[in-house]
Amino acid sequence: MAINSDRVERDFSQRSAEDQQAFIELTWCDQCQKENLGLFDPCEYEHAGVIYIEGKCNQCKGLVVTELTDEEF
Ligand SMILES: [Zn+2]
Repeated sequence: MAINSDRVERDFSQRSAEDQQAFIELTWCDQCQKENLGLFDPCEYEHAGVIYIEGKCNQCKGLVVTELTDEEF
């Protein structure tokens, strides 16, 4: 079953430079159990009404997904 079947790609590069910088630097990595290691290869998508920023951890290269709640818009 494809879990990403109804995800809608968004354009991360449309965000302001400050926003992009913040999302790239202010991260939480489940694998490393550390915050703010940073990520690379960022992309943005929407799934079931929630917006996510997804990238790869600078330290372990694992997937890092940030869920954007309303307060962070
Ligand atoms: Zn990591």
